[in-house]
Amino acid sequence: MSAFQDLGLRAELVRAVSEQGYTTPTPVQTAAIPPVLEGRDLMAAAQTGTGKTAGFTLPLLQRLVETPVDGPRRVRALVLVPTRELAAQVAESVRVYGAHLPLRCALVFGGVGLNPQIAELKRAPEILVATPGRLLDLAARRAVDLSRIEVLVLDEADRMLDMGFIHDIRKVLALLPKRRQNLLFSATFADEIRNLAEGLLDRPVQVEVARRNATADTVAQRFVEVDAGRKPELLIHLLEENGWDPVLVFTRTKHGANRLAQKLVKAGVEAEAIHGNKSQNARTRALEGFKDGRVRVLVATDIAARGLDIDGLPQVVNFELPNVPEDYVHRIGRTGRAGATGSALSLVSADERKLVRGIERVLKRQLPLERLDGFVPTGRPAPVEDDRPPRGARPPQGRGRGAPSGNRDPRGGQGNRQGQGRSAQGSSARASSASAGGTGAPRRRRRRGGAGRAAA
Ligand code: AMP
Repeated sequence: MSAFQDLGLRAELVRAVSEQGYTTPTPVQTAAIPPVLEGRDLMAAAQTGTGKTAGFTLPLLQRLVETPVDGPRRVRALVLVPTRELAAQVAESVRVYGAHLPLRCALVFGGVGLNPQIAELKRAPEILVATPGRLLDLAARRAVDLSRIEVLVLDEADRMLDMGFIHDIRKVLALLPKRRQNLLFSATFADEIRNLAEGLLDRPVQVEVARRNATADTVAQRFVEVDAGRKPELLIHLLEENGWDPVLVFTRTKHGANRLAQKLVKAGVEAEAIHGNKSQNARTRALEGFKDGRVRVLVATDIAARGLDIDGLPQVVNFELPNVPEDYVHRIGRTGRAGATGSALSLVSADERKLVRGIERVLKRQLPLERLDGFVPTGRPAPVEDDRPPRGARPPQGRGRGAPSGNRDPRGGQGNRQGQGRSAQGSSARASSASAGGTGAPRRRRRRGGAGRAAA
């Protein structure tokens, strides 16, 4: 008997899971699946990479097939997620795990035309995966009826709150029937999440999987002090010296991501930037290039990276430190997964030393700062140029409800509602030339296995 069957899952689901090559449930799956099958509410502290998506998708699918309803088909389960990438990934999981069940899933998120989504909703899906803003738009147009939802999942609830979706979430909740099952997943349980949970969950089963706070043993962490203006040069040097491939590089802002990707390409490194200002197609292209090995360096902002299924990387670089220490934990959690060793290197300019202190507080340990020959900091501030978008590339200001506006938003100004934050700005830095291996020859990597599903 398979370990998934032991959790009470039906044969069709066990089959779908084994077709994915999964033999053993992850801890969050073991803890979450049985109570969700029983119809209990759930409050789970689990990050991306823990297997949480299957943790709610599998029992959700089972509940729907096992409690057939009379009357016309209708939306019975709603999964709310913060980003379009995550929406696409969850919908893909529903499709994969539900492959042998007669249930339909629709996906709605902003940034693309409404009409195809309205058409999809007309096909009466039982499961709807949505970002909050677009869902409200569709509900306002009466394209979707949420009044008979039986199960609600809030996935990455902490990130939805970070992105300013709380009002949208409350508006969505008001459209749902009172009696329903609620599942809440969040990486952290800050007070704000607890407040939300209190009004939402009825005697929830609480599940906490060991934070993939891989920081403990599996991720080697280094912090290198360097002048802000020399960071690109140092990164290129490190890429050359260490041969990192692939590597996920984090910047704080969208403009910073674009600029860095362009610099890398100029230096002969295949690089792409990925962030919320890009069209869905551009993001999907960049991600696919990264997964199949054409793109060596993916430069991402926190929020753009958050929804991506690109965990398990060998190397992560923090080109800039995040303002929020918890984001550091998320970032480095992208590496060193499933027992594999990973490595995270952070470039720390003088003005970021205080951020290192914050990270130390969260990790509850001291983080030594290194200096590298040839890059010892002089204390010179970053060139002014380094903090602004290129001329003609300024984003429209103040779009999006509740969105921090302005290019100096420390979180990258990505609070705009999903899909409303498109702009023509920031064409991707497509690489055409050789990598920085110093060989002059373009390098193509093997297709990486296990880097996850495509985003869309
Ligand atoms: P998630 O945390 O839901 O984003 O899942 C992270 C990754 O783990 C995804 O690529 C899943 O396909 C994969 N995964 C989920 N459950 C299992 C499992 N039981 N065994 C191995 N991999 C899994």
